[in-house]
Amino acid sequence: MAFSFHNKSAILFDMDGVLYDSMPNHSKAWSQAMEQFGMHMTPHDVYLNEGATGHDTVVRISLRDRGYEASEQEINDIYGYKANLFRSMPEARVMPGSQEVFRKAAAAGLKILIVTGSGQKNLIERVQRDYEGYITRDRMVTAFEVKRGKPYPDPYLKGLQIAGVPASEAVVVENAPLGIRAAVAAGIDTIAVNTGPLEDEILLAEKPVLLLHSMQELADNLENLFA
Ligand code: CA
Repeated sequence: MAFSFHNKSAILFDMDGVLYDSMPNHSKAWSQAMEQFGMHMTPHDVYLNEGATGHDTVVRISLRDRGYEASEQEINDIYGYKANLFRSMPEARVMPGSQEVFRKAAAAGLKILIVTGSGQKNLIERVQRDYEGYITRDRMVTAFEVKRGKPYPDPYLKGLQIAGVPASEAVVVENAPLGIRAAVAAGIDTIAVNTGPLEDEILLAEKPVLLLHSMQELADNLENLFA
């Protein structure tokens, strides 16, 4: 492997699909919410749009399916409906291997941050319990901290600012094409972990430094990457 953690001092994790196996729930919630409002979102659509804010997702699908931009009121209604559905679903499990990755990264002295497009308050609260000792709210960039979400680099640039490190000293762990695009646009070496149904090629097109298929695979390879 050409990529290594040599000279890296911070690691920035995406949340959904990386720290939680929450994408199947998001996929169902988006599909149902869009149907309710006369639009259509397949699981493939959901995974392709993953990482974008709820606002941007509604705008994109409305333009595609109806040819016009949704109003702010409608965006709030649709995203609110989706968020409620998501909250009513069974709790997503912690992604296997992810807590081990956190332990090893912390032991190696890396600063740990979370950079998510999510505005789901319950998951933002929960992550601080499931990853207790490694993450606090002030080390998280969420939908509440930035105006422009992924695929804009803004969330990751904000993450670098909070970490106090230059892009060259950071590494990102992402599962979604738009998330990888955002991190790469911020100038950060990005590890893609393909935990969903998209073809590897779709993620590789966004130029990650490495592509793996699970957080457990990252945990198992972390020592090698530090060598
Ligand atoms: Ca994600």
